[in-house]
Amino acid sequence: MLYGVFSDVHSNMEALEIVLSFFQKQGVEAFICGGDLVGYGPQPEQCLRKIRALKNLSVVCGNHDLAVIERMDPNWFNSCARAAVFWTRERLTPQSRRFLESLPGKIEHKEFSLVHGTPRKPPEEYLLSAAQFRENVSYVQTWPLFVGHSHIPLCFKLSGEKGEKVDMLFLEDGEGVKIPCAGFRAAPIDFNPGSVGQPRDHDPRASCALFDSKKRTFRIVRLDYDISSVQAKIRETELPEYLALRLAFGQ
Ligand code: ZN
Repeated sequence: MLYGVFSDVHSNMEALEIVLSFFQKQGVEAFICGGDLVGYGPQPEQCLRKIRALKNLSVVCGNHDLAVIERMDPNWFNSCARAAVFWTRERLTPQSRRFLESLPGKIEHKEFSLVHGTPRKPPEEYLLSAAQFRENVSYVQTWPLFVGHSHIPLCFKLSGEKGEKVDMLFLEDGEGVKIPCAGFRAAPIDFNPGSVGQPRDHDPRASCALFDSKKRTFRIVRLDYDISSVQAKIRETELPEYLALRLAFGQ
C-alpha cells in the first residue's frame, strides 16, 4: 500500500492542496495524518472539509485541535497560538467541530502506529531526543510509528546489534529511509513527515512524505506553494501578523 503521510496542516489551504495533488499524482491509496489540522492559519473550515473527504484516512487529533474543541486549555499556548485557537473556534461549522471531536488520540493500524506527539503522551510531548524515543518504545505495538507536533522532518531508530543505540536523522527533500523489517514489535523506527502548513526547519516549503508498506520505504518530499497568498489571507483577519511572517522563514 502506498500511503501519503502528512501532519500539522494548521489551516493552510494553499499548502494542503499542493500536498494532496502531489499525493494524487503519485497514486497514493491511503492517507496518514498526524493531527493539528487547525490553528495558526486562515482557512480552518476549508481544510477540514478537504481532509474529511479523503478516502482511507487515518487521522489523530493534535493539541491545537483539542484546544479548539475546548478539550485542552489554550493558556498553555503562546499568545499567537492562543489567539488563533479563539479565532478558529468561531469559524467552524457544527459538522467540522464534530469531526474534530471524533478524532482519536492514538491509532494502532496493522501496518503502523500513529500519534500526534508521543505514544506515552499523545497530544503533548515533543519527540525530539534519542532518550525520549527509547522511553517511548514500549508504548508502541506496530512499527513504524508516525508522529507530528514538532513540525520537523525527523526519524529515530534503534541501531546496533542489540538495539543499544538510537540514530536520529534530520530528513531533507527527497531523502529516503529503508524500514528494516515488518511485524509486531519489530525494528522500532519513527518518522515525523514535517509540517504541511507551518514548517519549522528553516525550509518554508510544505513538507509531506510517502510510505510504501510493501517496499518498506519512507521518503520526505518538499513542495513549493503560494506563501504570499496565505500571508495575504492571514492579514485580512485579526490573526497576529507574526503568523504570516513566520511562513516565509520556515519557522
Ligand atoms: Zn502543530
